[in-house]
Amino acid sequence: MFCKNCGKEIDDKAAVCVHCGVAVTNETSSRTNTLAIVGFVLSFLVPIAGLVCSILARKKCRESGEGGEGLACAGIIISSVELGLEAVSVLLFGFAFVPMFLLAGSAAV
Ligand SMILES: [Zn+2]
Repeated sequence: MFCKNCGKEIDDKAAVCVHCGVAVTNETSSRTNTLAIVGFVLSFLVPIAGLVCSILARKKCRESGEGGEGLACAGIIISSVELGLEAVSVLLFGFAFVPMFLLAGSAAV
């Protein structure tokens, strides 16, 4: 696990951090990664930012053993779906308007 105070890797069973001397509790595993929460919220508001945050959060959760990996996965899925929907709507928009522009162009000439 990693020390909450200095962030350095320490023994899982250590009671005190060997790097900074701060008492270590095992609550890191029950704590939810903040970035996972941020990524989850952002996935609804700004999908691309939510996707990036969620990917980083999932990586961090795996490294530090913090909770929130499920939340990060949900953020990745939600933002991916939203990005997909946005891409589809952009394509539909393009397919609907390009022929109109072509028609307008040929009519003008
Ligand atoms: Zn430490």
